[in-house]
Amino acid sequence: MSPRRQNLLPYNLPLIEEEEIQAVVDCLKSNWVTKGPKTVEFEKRFAEYVGAKHAIAVNSCTAGLHIALVGAGIGEGDEVLTTPMTFTSTANVIIHCGATPVFVDIDPKTMNIDHTKIEEKITSKTKAIIPVHIAGLPCEMEEIMDIAKRHNLFVLEDAAHAVYTQYKGRMIGSIGDATAFSFYATKNLMTGEGGMVTTNDDELAAKLRTYSLHGMSRNAWNRYTAKGSWFYEVEFPGYKYNMTDIQAALGMVQLSKLGFMQTIRELTVERYNEAFSKLPELGIPTNLDHARHAWHLYVIKLNLERITVDRAEFIELLKEENISTSVHFIPVHLHPYYRDTYGYKHGDFPQAEGVFDRIISLPLYPKMSEIDVQDVIEAVQTVVQRVRK
Ligand SMILES: *Cc1c(COP(=O)(O)O)cnc(C)c1O
Repeated sequence: MSPRRQNLLPYNLPLIEEEEIQAVVDCLKSNWVTKGPKTVEFEKRFAEYVGAKHAIAVNSCTAGLHIALVGAGIGEGDEVLTTPMTFTSTANVIIHCGATPVFVDIDPKTMNIDHTKIEEKITSKTKAIIPVHIAGLPCEMEEIMDIAKRHNLFVLEDAAHAVYTQYKGRMIGSIGDATAFSFYATKNLMTGEGGMVTTNDDELAAKLRTYSLHGMSRNAWNRYTAKGSWFYEVEFPGYKYNMTDIQAALGMVQLSKLGFMQTIRELTVERYNEAFSKLPELGIPTNLDHARHAWHLYVIKLNLERITVDRAEFIELLKEENISTSVHFIPVHLHPYYRDTYGYKHGDFPQAEGVFDRIISLPLYPKMSEIDVQDVIEAVQTVVQRVRK
């Protein structure tokens, strides 16, 4: 049987239009390409957008997570709680600080950290917690902030999927002690590579500004312009994590059309939900009444009891229908480094492992045409019919 779609549908593509191209060209023509006026403007607009006092632009979410932990004083001997159901960088940055990542299992429905299991993992060494808003669905922040307050923990949100997300009417980026966003190529708002840290803490914001640029008291924009001075001092051995004006130019265009891009995502999700909720072989993603979901990912869960193939084979069958997919994520504790270093093994986080065996992320991005969306729906229906018990 030949596939009904003739060419492979990519899993993800960014929406790059004339405005983005023009913004980058204008930046190049201005001759100011590194961190400068456009980055300052983007930081201001982003802080306003999420309702945070400060936003610090960085060259990735990973960089933002790292300096936020350093800024909070996390170091050797400390433990930081997070979820195994995330991208590896969430846990890697804990190790970069000299601290130890400690995982808390997930709620299989939301795939987010199970807040009822957090307190049993807290020890005298626990200093921080990194909740991850997986796929763009917010964690239970009220409960998490409450636990953090009682145990004096720093709350750093990994909001790589959660630009646009709201929790009980509040924007993600305005709740935790610090929040890190990703503008990686595949994310809802992209600058190629890039990220942003938001915080309401003046002292932390000042630290993050210097830590993102070698720990210097002044950046190039302050030094090389007419009002600037050549003088600077190094206050901390910082990192080279700053954003560039080329990225900020892209980011401002993307931010201005984020609402439009989100509307397309929401319409696609409605079509997927409508079609897939009729198939008992699949579970559709959970949403919550008190949330505004950013729909970074659309993750279906296979009911393995009702089908004759496993997740890997299901993905291969979709590929034969010319539909690309992905898996978010391989639980971090199952990676060789984490097994070998911390003694983690299969069975340690049964909810995360159980979900991992059943999940597939389907294509979901504003550049998809209505026909692309229909092709995904029909391909999934076709494969389900073939593997149905
Ligand atoms: C993409 C991603 C990151 C890392 O973002 P970068 O900007 O590439 O550093 C961190 N956490 C999660 C959950 C992600 O999906």
